[in-house]
Amino acid sequence: AKEDEPNSHHFYDKEMESAIVRRLDLITDLKTAIEQNEFELYYQPKVHLATNTIVGAEALIRWHKGNEIIPPNAFIPVAEESGLINEIGKWAIETACRECARWQKIGMKGVTVAVNLSPVQFKRGNLPTYVFRALQQCGLDPNMLELEITESLFIDNADHVKQQIHVMAEKGVNFAIDDFGTGYSNLNYLSHFNASTLKIDMSFVRQMLQNKQQQHIVNAIIKMSRVMDLENVAEGVEDEQTARELQAQGCVYGQGYFWSAPVPRDKFLRLLKQHTYA
Ligand code: C2E
Ligand code: CA
Ligand code: CA
Ligand code: CA
Repeated sequence: AKEDEPNSHHFYDKEMESAIVRRLDLITDLKTAIEQNEFELYYQPKVHLATNTIVGAEALIRWHKGNEIIPPNAFIPVAEESGLINEIGKWAIETACRECARWQKIGMKGVTVAVNLSPVQFKRGNLPTYVFRALQQCGLDPNMLELEITESLFIDNADHVKQQIHVMAEKGVNFAIDDFGTGYSNLNYLSHFNASTLKIDMSFVRQMLQNKQQQHIVNAIIKMSRVMDLENVAEGVEDEQTARELQAQGCVYGQGYFWSAPVPRDKFLRLLKQHTYA
């Protein structure tokens, strides 16, 4: 700050300080949360549009902090910066695999589970090791597991990342590109590694009936996925009309509030037992 503005300098310092304190508090609370098992996975159905059947679920983390439920956007970024995401992410993979193994055992064969990965989880190089261990521990077929990654993963360190993805894909683990269409515009990376699915970002899907531009983007992504022999999932489907329009355009799977918000595992199991939304 300039010398004639001593207060603005002072104010800035105080703001910085309290932001740092808040961040440190959050890190401390996250460490406790890991020790005390305060996390829970919710599951959101992935639906086959043509038959209105549940074919899988995406696992989405929740934090029970006292009486509050904290959404991931409020703590994942700090967990990433602090490295705590490694432990949280490992827990999420183990928990999701165990749950999916349970679905197979009670007769819901072929119902897959998708887990979100942070780019940070590729840094240590031990991701394939703990993914394989998690699968083995519960006897889950690797083909039942899908890992969701984002385009930002390919901006730097691509070889290190590609290699780990390759090792897991070889064993049958599936990879989906999350939030597709919002990130890195160079699509070259798609031809260099084994993704099996594009998840069309909900920012295009939610308004597609009202907005021609967004409908064109959705349509282009669907066409591209078919040309490249990738599966596609539309996220953020909130009403039946959007679901039907997506299906008409050649989209195969959908997720969204139209079918269900993410729900605790028991509630998901009830949805699964009803099996179809028809
Ligand atoms: P995402 O992977 O793109 O997940 C989709 C988000 O959209 C979820 O928010 C979901 O609840 C919400 N959603 C689903 N259907 C609809 C809909 O029809 N309309 C609208 N408006 N929203 C819908 P959520 O659960 O709060 O998760 C936010 C983000 O946090 C996720 O975005 C993901 O990037 C991240 N995340 C969640 N769980 C994990 C995790 O275990 N590990 C990591 N690294 N990230 C996670
Ligand atoms: Ca996701
Ligand atoms: Ca596979
Ligand atoms: Ca997404």
